[in-house]
Amino acid sequence: MPSYPRHRGSMTADAVVVGGGLTGCAAAYALAAAGLRVVLLEAARVGHGNTAFSSGWISEDPGVAFGELESAIGLRAARHAFHSWRRAALDFIALLKRLDVKCHLEARTAVTLARTLEQAARLTRDRKARLGAGLDAPMLNARAIWNDLAIDATAGLRSKDGATIDPYRACLGLASAAAERGALLFERSAARRIRFSRKSADVLTANGSIRTAHVVIATAVPTPLFKALQRHFWFRTSYLVLSERVPAKTRALLGNRATIVRDTAVPPHIVRWVGDEHVLVCGADGEEAPPRRRDKIIVQRTGQLMYELSTLYPDVSGLQPAYGWAADYARTVDGLPYIGPHRNYPHHLFAFGDASHSATGAYLASRILLRHCSEELDSADEAYSFNR
Ligand SMILES: Cc1cc2nc3c(=O)[nH]c(=O)nc-3n(C[C@H](O)[C@H](O)[C@H](O)COP(=O)(O)OP(=O)(O)OC[C@H]3O[C@@H](n4cnc5c(N)ncnc54)[C@H](O)[C@@H]3O)c2cc1C
Repeated sequence: MPSYPRHRGSMTADAVVVGGGLTGCAAAYALAAAGLRVVLLEAARVGHGNTAFSSGWISEDPGVAFGELESAIGLRAARHAFHSWRRAALDFIALLKRLDVKCHLEARTAVTLARTLEQAARLTRDRKARLGAGLDAPMLNARAIWNDLAIDATAGLRSKDGATIDPYRACLGLASAAAERGALLFERSAARRIRFSRKSADVLTANGSIRTAHVVIATAVPTPLFKALQRHFWFRTSYLVLSERVPAKTRALLGNRATIVRDTAVPPHIVRWVGDEHVLVCGADGEEAPPRRRDKIIVQRTGQLMYELSTLYPDVSGLQPAYGWAADYARTVDGLPYIGPHRNYPHHLFAFGDASHSATGAYLASRILLRHCSEELDSADEAYSFNR
């Protein structure tokens, strides 16, 4: 496992990236590859934040209902958001291949299922809204779903261009690709304070400072350094369970295991197979779990998710969990992350929030932030801005 030194002394850089998760490492790579002098500061270890807890899905859409997004931000912006998300998924997969990042990258189709009549009505409405906006929305009926997945559902929307990765390994791979292109990475080096003037910003660590034109904040959620921005978010916790090995006899009863299954329950579940023998289930989201009660809540949600999995695949009933864990995230009012500047913080660029529990947002953020740093703005990026 690579390790990076602590930051010491004073230096200058074109951009300082705060946070060494998938978003920060993707941003450090994008900026360094574009020729900028980049410094990345990670408070703990690279990839040990939310990235290590996530399920590793590069999804093709931002996981919000198109019709609802259209009502919130308008047709044009919603269409841009869906187009750029899909583009980012394809480009992210291509980048990981080009850099030869060893992160178990596998192409995956996905299906968003409706399992009740109410969910089917919602899915049909959403499909209509997507088609109305000129987006692709291939529908599956109950029989096609049963034949392919052996799951009892009323309808499904298919997407075909996503992938799964080991997000921790992808993060380490992007970190070393950034370092190869000249980025300086520091671990155990929290940004403690950020001062700014009209001309530049100074990022202060315990043992030094960095003067820069751009500070990229890639800490996933607004930390206490940005208390004033916390009002834009709801702090939530999602739960994940990896099952024990599913016996070959049981696996033979199940359908195609290469497809990622997401349902339209509120909150939704995401189910995917890991290494063909274990099932990973994500869901049961709720308000942020307080540290005091966290372990107890994880045990309860692990049981709940295993039960809910057995309603999807009755043949796995009785299967035991191998691991259960929790991941915190910040949710925005319309479900899309905020990526870009905020008028109260000159020289800062932010990437906060989580959409569809997906790695695609991390890569998309790196491209939008690069466009801001190099002043090559794309009007489509407005869909992700703070003032959308
Ligand atoms: C349940 C769940 C499932 C998810 N599933 C997926 C998935 O399928 N695929 C996927 O990849 N994504 C998934 N995500 C989203 C995932 O969290 C993000 O995609 C991404 O991996 C998070 O990366 P990040 O860099 O934004 O945050 P993090 O990985 O949390 O990185 C932020 C880093 O900032 C550091 N930091 C904080 N404060 C400071 C400071 N002051 N100075 C320096 N460093 C600081 C932290 O130590 C941390 O390492 C999921 C999220 C949830 C909640």
